[in-house]
Amino acid sequence: MKNMQKTRVPMKEAAPNVRNTNFEEVALGYTEEEAIAEASRCLDCKNHPCMEGCPVSVRIPEFLSLAAEGKFAEAYAVIKTTNALPAVCGRVCPQENQCEGKCVRGLKGEPVAIGRLERFCADWARAHSQHTGSPKTEKLPENAPRVAVVGSGPAGLSCAGMLAQNGCRVTVFEALHAPGGVLVYGIPEFRLPKSIVSAEVEALREAGVEFRCDTVIGRSYTIDELQEEGYAAIFIGSGAGLPQFMGIEGEGLCGVYSANEYLTRVNLMKAYRKDAMTPVLRARRVAVIGGGNVAMDAARCAKRMGAEEVYIIYRRGEEEMPARREEVHHAKEEGILFKLLTNPTAIHGDENACVKAITVEKMELGEPDASGRRRPQAVPGSAYEIAVDAVIEAVGTRPNPLLRMTTPGLESDRRGCLVVREDGVSTTKEGVFAGGDAVTGAATVILAMGAGKAAAAKILEGLGM
Ligand SMILES: Cc1cc2nc3c(=O)[nH]c(=O)nc-3n(C[C@H](O)[C@H](O)[C@H](O)COP(=O)(O)OP(=O)(O)OC[C@H]3O[C@@H](n4cnc5c(N)ncnc54)[C@H](O)[C@@H]3O)c2cc1C
Repeated sequence: MKNMQKTRVPMKEAAPNVRNTNFEEVALGYTEEEAIAEASRCLDCKNHPCMEGCPVSVRIPEFLSLAAEGKFAEAYAVIKTTNALPAVCGRVCPQENQCEGKCVRGLKGEPVAIGRLERFCADWARAHSQHTGSPKTEKLPENAPRVAVVGSGPAGLSCAGMLAQNGCRVTVFEALHAPGGVLVYGIPEFRLPKSIVSAEVEALREAGVEFRCDTVIGRSYTIDELQEEGYAAIFIGSGAGLPQFMGIEGEGLCGVYSANEYLTRVNLMKAYRKDAMTPVLRARRVAVIGGGNVAMDAARCAKRMGAEEVYIIYRRGEEEMPARREEVHHAKEEGILFKLLTNPTAIHGDENACVKAITVEKMELGEPDASGRRRPQAVPGSAYEIAVDAVIEAVGTRPNPLLRMTTPGLESDRRGCLVVREDGVSTTKEGVFAGGDAVTGAATVILAMGAGKAAAAKILEGLGM
């Protein structure tokens, strides 16, 4: 029976004043009864607009209809046919701009909570010991083609999974000590528990994928050396991990971090644990510059690391913030202070060259710029200082230039993104493919996964498999 409630079934969350002191997951997921009630809100409309909104075309009405009948294993199996990482996507995809943004129920109420239901099915399958990753492959013949994947973020993982399923011997080379890319070094535990990412990586291992961590391609081996080694194809999914800075006075002071460094120390290097040896400044007052998901994650981590005051400093207004609405909402609930239409102009240090304050000026929005967003302009005479002990800059990242600098024939554009041909995945170097943030610049998990799959399909086609 259809559930015609206009509002979605709410999902329980940890209380803001409790969760902002620990790193446990904020959103607690649906129960089976709640999942059935929410899935029953789907009208199964004729043209399936929700599927158009999904970059990997998950068969949404089909899995919702199975979930509405309580057939969770079957629902999960449907999702897995097109999405290799549903437990991840159900948690971090910007569904409001994708599937849920197109849901017909959203016209006269709230859209069906597709992301929450995707998460529910994946969690249910994991809890009931269903296989969470790629199906096991038979032992591969010695002469199976070898493919190298550079980077183990969502692009690399989805590419590796599809290649392994189709009979390739895949080696994933990862610069860091743990696989997962941004899913492990950037997105905090309280949004995406790392056990979920490791389960996916383990499933790929079981499917025959080899992971070689602590291996920086371009340093440990070059792309040319991998080709000489006999890898029939190479996929580059090296992301966009090079932080950008604003270029203002004081960025060299002690206590100024890029968000990537700060999040890596806190998340990947577990600085939040009492037993961790990772050094990180436990500041009392923190300014986070930026308005995207990365800024929200950094601010919420800083709060959990014990800061009393954490400011988000963003030069446009809340409407223009690129962060997901949910992340902004959670950050506000947790006590993060928003200084909108505010732009930093200098960071000041004390006699020990440690951060002591930041100067900001007020902004107003003028005419739209090339991005279509209204351009912020400084209000003359509006500058003032905020006392802080740490500044975290989350103002964007670019691909690291190492691979293009060490690989003759591999071209990149002026933003440092790898150039791909019309097929969207072949680079300018024969036998080398690329996808994810390394090609698009900082984007989303689901787009990186889609690119990894598209590249795998192209590689398999080239190998005649
Ligand atoms: C803090 C943060 C929060 C985010 N939140 C969201 C969100 O809520 N929702 C969402 O959809 N997206 C989010 N994103 C964006 C999303 O995570 C990325 O778009 C996505 O991870 C890109 O995937 P990728 O596989 O291309 O690259 P990455 O995830 O960056 O993985 C690339 C991997 O390649 C490795 N590598 C790089 N160079 C080399 C080399 N030379 N040799 C070997 N290995 C190398 C890196 O160490 C890394 O592990 C967030 C990003 C950040 C930083």
